[in-house]
Amino acid sequence: TDYDDWLRSDQYHNSFLVKPDPALDGVNQVGAQNGLPPIAVSTALGKFLNLLVTSIGAKKIIEVGTLAGYSTLWMAKAIPEDGEIITFELEEKHAKVARENLEKANVSHKVEVVVGPAAESLPKIGGDGTFDLAFIDADKESNLEYFKQAKRLLRTKGVIIVDNVVRNGKVAVPEESNNSIEGVRRLLEYIKGDKEVEGTTIATVGEKGYDGFLYAPSTTHPSLQLL
Ligand code: SAM
Repeated sequence: TDYDDWLRSDQYHNSFLVKPDPALDGVNQVGAQNGLPPIAVSTALGKFLNLLVTSIGAKKIIEVGTLAGYSTLWMAKAIPEDGEIITFELEEKHAKVARENLEKANVSHKVEVVVGPAAESLPKIGGDGTFDLAFIDADKESNLEYFKQAKRLLRTKGVIIVDNVVRNGKVAVPEESNNSIEGVRRLLEYIKGDKEVEGTTIATVGEKGYDGFLYAPSTTHPSLQLL
């Protein structure tokens, strides 16, 4: 099947490019043992986030959607000792598993897990214009709210990544609709009319099927435009 080909291809490339890491593998294992769903980013996207953090020298990061802390750990490994990730998670159980995983991986001093609906927690976070990167990977119907909050917090040329914006190509099929698909469409519509960010969708195929992520750097920070 197509899926077997995609999986094999991811594994092939990863075998050259991603060193086995017991801490990272352990995160999803512990997640599974605790009954968390297997919906973390792919290994390749995890590594991409890690490399992106290094490339842009990110120190302060916002993440929406923690799960067991897999993507969090990929990013935490790349920020400096005095860096900071604030990651938002609805489920107390997920947050608990994530905190334990991050503690075990020796990065808990760099990560704050905030429990509750991110739409309520995010507006309470200060430090407008000081974050370097935001990774949005939670309930897809709230993509636009999270994106606007991320924009507020991001520095000029900071980067927002939004996962799962292709969804087997269904986002582009007018007859297809559900809360997630509509959440992506609202975000795209917003970015189209927004002068403060640019964006491009990178479609991906691999162990997570056919999907893609949006790469959206801010061009100017809203508060700076007033000057
Ligand atoms: N980023 C994680 C990774 O790659 O390891 C995966 C995150 S998983 C796809 C989505 C997470 O978002 C779930 O743990 C879910 O409980 C959480 N979530 C769902 N709705 C949320 C909300 N309203 N606020 C915060 N988190 C939410």
